Amino acid sequence: MKKRTVVVRKDGSRRNSSSSSRTRRVRYLECQKNHAANIGGYAVDGCREFMASGEEGTNEALNCAACGCHRNFHRVEIESSGDVCESSS
Ligand SMILES: [Zn+2]
Repeated sequence: MKKRTVVVRKDGSRRNSSSSSRTRRVRYLECQKNHAANIGGYAVDGCREFMASGEEGTNEALNCAACGCHRNFHRVEIESSGDVCESSS
């Protein structure tokens, strides 16, 4: 008598991120990279908002798709979402 084996695949590749419990959204706005620094001037590329050129977690995600600069050159705005519940004990 043959028994059928049912293989249950468990998705073990999933990472559980327990880094932060509350949501804090970070937005990257205008690019502030000075493209004329080498000639002693000041000129930005006019990029208004950072757009990741790749998926989150990849190196491409750190570069702006619009202007090609690293994310660090963009102005950071931290949005704290309103659903932060602080329980007083
Ligand atoms: Zn830029």
